[in-house]
Amino acid sequence: MITQQEISKILDKYDLKHLAIGTIGSHSALNIFKGAKEEGFKTICICKKSDTILYKKFPLADEIITVKDFTELLNENLQEKLRQLNTVLIPHGSFTAYLSTEQMTENLLVPMFGNRRLLHWETGRERQKEWLQRAGLRLPKTFDKAEQISELVIAKLPGAKGGKGYFLANSPESFQRKVREMVSRGLLSTDDINSIHLQQYILGVNVYPHYFASIVNNDVEFLGVDRRYESAVDAIGRIPADEQLDIKISPTYTIVGNIPLTLRESLLPELIRMGDNVAKTANELAPPGIIGPFCLETIITDNLEIYAFEISARIVAGTNVGIGTSPYAYLKYGENMYTGKRIALEIKEALRRKEANRIFA
Ligand code: AMP
Ligand code: AMP
Repeated sequence: MITQQEISKILDKYDLKHLAIGTIGSHSALNIFKGAKEEGFKTICICKKSDTILYKKFPLADEIITVKDFTELLNENLQEKLRQLNTVLIPHGSFTAYLSTEQMTENLLVPMFGNRRLLHWETGRERQKEWLQRAGLRLPKTFDKAEQISELVIAKLPGAKGGKGYFLANSPESFQRKVREMVSRGLLSTDDINSIHLQQYILGVNVYPHYFASIVNNDVEFLGVDRRYESAVDAIGRIPADEQLDIKISPTYTIVGNIPLTLRESLLPELIRMGDNVAKTANELAPPGIIGPFCLETIITDNLEIYAFEISARIVAGTNVGIGTSPYAYLKYGENMYTGKRIALEIKEALRRKEANRIFA
């Protein structure tokens, strides 16, 4: 495990007046780069050749480093180049999607805005459950074995796969049938069958609140909310029930985009308490806890019970709906505040207070 001392040593050699903000070109990179530029930082995009068109069209990256594969981030030469450029990396969903927790905690020797020690709690389903339960959140039930399925469940694949290959089942038999169907449609590989996670299906709407844990201000901010736009589940309602039955559709949840949301004001106190408690528990599990943005994935039922089924202790792509501003960021900051910019502001403030060691790990 890369230690804080190793990161501090690197930061000691950095020219902090010329810090560069870098990230993988995907997910929420534009959000991050725009915020960094607005706060006067240099920006570095590590991206696939075929995607450079995007980072040229929106010219927010001062430097584009092309790679064949994001695992090239593990190469010593590339890391040395990033350190030479005084780079701090902002982790987002593509880091956890394309690198393993071990690779990020053992082999990525570039300072990151985030708590590496918390990654371990975020990426293991059982550990994540313990974290959220200790924070007092309401969670869906889980089933250890397919034979135990006694109600509608959602079957999930491990890792941040954006809902790809998820499916529903309501009995051990329907589970086996769906598995065969998903494999034959190429949505599930046979290797993944044993790592499927079975969770009680909560009937409700999905709500993803975005928070920001500020280490320098010792506060948790509520910056926005989104909901997801998922294929094919959001398309099923467009075909009549008869045809749905005829073609035996099972809903899948591949994420395509996000939709901004505001909530009943009476739901906000509970969501704010949930964010505070999750951050406080993180501090107990792996001090200093969450550094910067995080998001809860929740479902709200018709009697207004909030179920949390996941946490992301980093920027989520749903915050892209707030680029420029979101209603809740506006309420706190006025115009022009969004997660990418909030990250850059936090970094700027920590540098001003000479507290870089508290926010980079
Ligand atoms: P990508 O680089 O687009 O493959 O994204 C990496 C991972 O981040 C994906 O596997 C998704 O789980 C997640 N992700 C990407 N975009 C979004 C989005 N707009 N909303 C939610 N999750 C996303
Ligand atoms: P995820 O990739 O974990 O963010 O989830 C993808 C989709 O599955 C989202 O639309 C969620 O609302 C839905 N989902 C995840 N867990 C549950 C659950 N326990 N009950 C109902 N829907 C869920």
